[in-house]
Amino acid sequence: MGLNLIMMGPPGAGKGTQAGRVARERGLLKISTGDILRQAIKDQTPVGQLALSVMSTGELVDDETMIAIVRERLLQHDLDHQGFLLDGFPRTVPQAQALDRIIEERDNGPLVVIDIRVPFQELVRRLSGRRICSSCGTNADPFGSEARSCGKCGGELAYRADDSRDVVVERLKVYERQTFPLVEYYQGRQTFRVVNGAQAPDQVAFDLDTVLDDAAAVGAEAHRSRSEAGETGAPATTMDGTQGKGA
Ligand code: AMP
Repeated sequence: MGLNLIMMGPPGAGKGTQAGRVARERGLLKISTGDILRQAIKDQTPVGQLALSVMSTGELVDDETMIAIVRERLLQHDLDHQGFLLDGFPRTVPQAQALDRIIEERDNGPLVVIDIRVPFQELVRRLSGRRICSSCGTNADPFGSEARSCGKCGGELAYRADDSRDVVVERLKVYERQTFPLVEYYQGRQTFRVVNGAQAPDQVAFDLDTVLDDAAAVGAEAHRSRSEAGETGAPATTMDGTQGKGA
């Protein structure tokens, strides 16, 4: 049975690093909706043209388009026996409801939701001082403040242009506004877990792996019970998002 994972976390929480590691170590396919849209823009597809106009304003692409993209990807056969890690999706409650329906349709393991949390002031501090490599774009290790060159390619580290304090505060507020309804949507579930991201990366990784194993076991057990009761394999949520019983 696969593991289906969503990782939530504000900019600066270290989500990107942890998501990459978890996907690698657990053999999950990492699917980033931002990457899919950026590729569509490059390929000049109709979705790319739509995304270009929306993304340049900093707004969200509409739910219908995003759900269609994710639905198509998650139901492809290469994922029949593999889990996935979604990065950047869902961003709204209708997207989360649609994802629940897709998970039921896939019938390949439960959904685990991890929320990496870091206090606001700590995020502002981290992001305002965030440096990236001017050659390869890799984020500098925020704990390696002494380093002058990129650990990956040796290029020069520079402060990010969009990381001035005001911009950082605004980005974090937008994130909070967007994410709050999603946290409310997921937090009552047995497979929802919070990880303290205000720690050294190794400790965050350790905590994350611990809660992930626990949530995956709880989710697998619930999935098994429902399979035995004949309740999986069909939408557990109805089209209006209310809880329904699988047929
Ligand atoms: P990201 O790389 O995840 O920060 O996404 C970059 C941009 O792509 C966002 O600012 C949105 O405009 C768009 N985008 C990515 N994922 C979604 C989503 N799930 N729903 C709506 N828009 C999205």
